[in-house]
Amino acid sequence: MTEKEHLSIDHLVNRYVAKLGKYNAGLSIEGLKARFQVDRVAKLGSNENPFPTSSSVMKALSRAGDLSHYPDANCSLLRKKIADKLTVAEESLVFGNGSEDLISIISRALINEGDKVMTIVPSFGLHILYPTACGAKMVIAPMTAQLEFDIERITSLLRSEKPKLFFIASPSNPVGCSLSQDDVNDILANVSEQTLLVFDEAYYEYAQGELDYPDVLALLKASGKPFVLLRTLSKAYSLAGLRIGYGVFYPVALAEYMNKVRTPFNVNRQAQVAAIAALDDDNHLEKTIHWNHIARKKMQQDLKRLGVSPYESKGNFLFFSTSWLATDLADKLLKFGVIVKPWMEPGYEYFVRVSIGKAEDNQLFITSLASLLGRTALSHVNQ
Ligand SMILES: *Cc1c(COP(=O)(O)O)cnc(C)c1O
Repeated sequence: MTEKEHLSIDHLVNRYVAKLGKYNAGLSIEGLKARFQVDRVAKLGSNENPFPTSSSVMKALSRAGDLSHYPDANCSLLRKKIADKLTVAEESLVFGNGSEDLISIISRALINEGDKVMTIVPSFGLHILYPTACGAKMVIAPMTAQLEFDIERITSLLRSEKPKLFFIASPSNPVGCSLSQDDVNDILANVSEQTLLVFDEAYYEYAQGELDYPDVLALLKASGKPFVLLRTLSKAYSLAGLRIGYGVFYPVALAEYMNKVRTPFNVNRQAQVAAIAALDDDNHLEKTIHWNHIARKKMQQDLKRLGVSPYESKGNFLFFSTSWLATDLADKLLKFGVIVKPWMEPGYEYFVRVSIGKAEDNQLFITSLASLLGRTALSHVNQ
């Protein structure tokens, strides 16, 4: 079928969706190999775990059996496991096809056209994209010039704007900084009950062992304020390909509305089986966290040697700027077989996020970057 060029579809599209930018989901390994004939690819653009899915999870998957029936729409076994682990009520949990799914579900269930939704910039793109698609008016709390959370600004905007939702990722994606216990308490003290706090803790497992990283869930529970806490098995548990995340919702009545909006079987059978096995595998988690700690430190030092100063990060990634436009730098790195994430939010066009990978991949990234920045790097060092 040939498409008629003049066939207009503009009138069909939701007016908020029509204005959305395109989400940059990054290149796949296969896509890059096909484009540049490179034989090694360092995929450092999506904060995936460099360790493969653990063997205990793969074993559980191989035993999971037949797929002809729909999965358990209630994720009952996984629900019990996580409720016990976090000491929360089973009914407070909602599961998603990745935690991204939950950001979409929350937006669709709660946002009316014109509602204010607050978030941070720079930030995880979907914290803006999904609310915007639902007709939200975004209220932005920029980070400080040093790329730290601007708590004064956040609390004053919470008081003056009284947004319906406040999405915040801590540790921050892309920067890697996190809220301290005082910061969380400051936010809680300044938020009115008209606002639902949504804490996205996608990098919780990486951060939880670090100095000064607070028990956000405990603080939220103690506050008695309405909240959502999002977690995922995509990152530290090496399950990005299966798509599973969850949210703790308080009060529980919120969770019931989410269940009305989500597709009934949004978490597939394999994902439920894998998540249960993954949560039991402490070894894999410890190995992951330990490696991330060492490799992140090394990459930080290597970048500094190139005259590039990454921000302190509690996640499995580093954020930095160079004198190159990020999209140009990322494009040039592709030819070396290296995928990174160029930031594109206004004001951050010179910033890049790189994930902490395997030793060889990190090395390929550093040597490629060194050869691209070559002279620039030296002139910085000599200053
Ligand atoms: C990676 C990431 C997610 C998405 O996780 P999925 O569970 O894979 O959908 C959510 N929030 C933030 C901040 C992330 O960095």
